[in-house]
Amino acid sequence: MCEQNEEKTTKKSLNFIEEIVENDLRNSLNDGRLQTRFPPEPNGYLHIGHAKAICMDFGIAQKYGGVCNLRFDDTNPEKEDTEYVEAIKHDIEWLGFKWGNIYHASDYFQQLWDFAVRLIKEGKAYVDEQTSEQIAAQKGTPTEPGVASPYRDRPVEESLALFEKMNNGEVPEGSMVLRAKIDMANPNMHFRDPVIYRIIHRDHHRTGSKWKAYPMYDFAHGQSDYFEGVTHSICTLEFVPHRPLYDYFIDELKGGQDLADHRPRQYEFNRLNLTYTVMSKRKLLALVQEGLVDGWDDPRMPTICGLRRRGYSPEAVRRFIDMIGYTKFDALNDYAMLEAAAREDLNQRSLRVSAVLHPVKLIITNYPEDQEDEMQAVNNPENEADGTHAITFSRELWIEQDDFMEEAPKKFFRMTPGKEVRLKNAYIVMCTGCKKNEKGEVEEIYCEYDPQSRSGLPGADRKVKGTLHWVSCKHARKAEVRLYDRLFTVENPSADSRDFRELLNPDSLQVLTECYVEPYAAQCKPMDYLQFQRIGYFTPDKHSTPEHPVYNRTVNLKDTWAKQK
Ligand code: ATP
Ligand code: MG
Repeated sequence: MCEQNEEKTTKKSLNFIEEIVENDLRNSLNDGRLQTRFPPEPNGYLHIGHAKAICMDFGIAQKYGGVCNLRFDDTNPEKEDTEYVEAIKHDIEWLGFKWGNIYHASDYFQQLWDFAVRLIKEGKAYVDEQTSEQIAAQKGTPTEPGVASPYRDRPVEESLALFEKMNNGEVPEGSMVLRAKIDMANPNMHFRDPVIYRIIHRDHHRTGSKWKAYPMYDFAHGQSDYFEGVTHSICTLEFVPHRPLYDYFIDELKGGQDLADHRPRQYEFNRLNLTYTVMSKRKLLALVQEGLVDGWDDPRMPTICGLRRRGYSPEAVRRFIDMIGYTKFDALNDYAMLEAAAREDLNQRSLRVSAVLHPVKLIITNYPEDQEDEMQAVNNPENEADGTHAITFSRELWIEQDDFMEEAPKKFFRMTPGKEVRLKNAYIVMCTGCKKNEKGEVEEIYCEYDPQSRSGLPGADRKVKGTLHWVSCKHARKAEVRLYDRLFTVENPSADSRDFRELLNPDSLQVLTECYVEPYAAQCKPMDYLQFQRIGYFTPDKHSTPEHPVYNRTVNLKDTWAKQK
């Protein structure tokens, strides 16, 4: 965490997980150790929701001198891939966090297998040959007990032999599962003989073809925490009903040993849900695979790589996570808050440059054709140390079409015939007229400049109401600018009965190809944070080159959505 944030968090009151941790440390639980983990399944790219978990898991370890490890929860070879493993590591580092060790749930396949065999031998697990539909139909409801499987009391030897077959490829997928034998009447449905192993005939990205029987989440997660010495296993609220089962398997695993009660404990906080987007990896993957977006890092995606390509800084993402906080109640967070966090952050760090997105030519008729002026533009008024850069003024400039009106209302303080405005960092000009084509569109605007009014000269502080940005036609680079809007048209696509594809915003991307930027901006690279003055925050796209600069709009200067609502 950056110093600024650290200062902020110490002043703030503790969140409920910090309170738990402080209390546990005070009481020397687990010998006063603090060990957390961030446990992504490598089946997709990380999104802003994961960032919330990352800030908690890594942040709390950092704050209290503990360690946070990265554990890949790789128990389902059907969807997992090393591409995701690498991307996840990169995104965590980009967010500014460091893990202690990297672990994999697949490192524990043998230990988990041995534990399952032990449970079978102790009469606490059995192989069920029913279909998943039959098993589901017997589950009962929270108020009605379930029905026992006909295989529930099969001999131990039979289960052991079949479990072996589940793993050696002799029996097809779906033909049988291993279930823990717990309590078919338990009010907690997770205790009604949960499935703990299933068959998957697919090579695993780390263990190859060694295993065909794979442990389910509930049988892998808590045990992995225990093997690693995790003390606080922090996750999201949907795991609350799983917690008793988590504890049950750890009790079984310990088998009465370890009297000091060294064990991981699970704590849950509210997940991050954001308006106008989806957070499910299944849906995000579908958007990518169906070509509905330009990859996982499409700047409209809520993924970390998407936000990065969009021009969010890691500090902006963390600032947002800090703003929403951690509670025990699920909520839908406003996308506008994420944008507000970005604005606050980018205002501090962005390089101010000039860009004209909808250009019209302005000719300064009394400025000599062969003359040029070099001026200095302030890089960042929020930080003097950022210095200045040179800009060039000449007779013909591009300005924004919106900044001119032939017949303007009284309060229009931009360019209109007979009125003066200042051209930023340059001169005061008086508009003298314009030329229009047959369609009545303005083709050129004319003005005269006052040489005495050059910014910085004595007496140049003459009052004019408006200041316009501009770029010199001769020096500017043509650029492509991509304006992004909400990916979905509805606030909560996940709660909508329609297919999420139908809810995509058809206008979420607008590409402007006739824009002009000052040369200094054309040299910038992805993750250089720019402010196009008077317009918004932008960053060069990964495909941007100095010859063909391409920029992504991160966010407008102001929240234009608030007005529309
Ligand atoms: P899926 O969409 O496939 O169910 P997932 O979102 O649960 O996956 P994991 O890779 O299993 O993704 O998540 C890793 C960690 O990130 C978990 O601890 C999970 O609780 C947390 N996490 C995932 N989504 C969110 C979210 N929206 N808000 C906060 N934490 C999240
Ligand atoms: Mg998950």
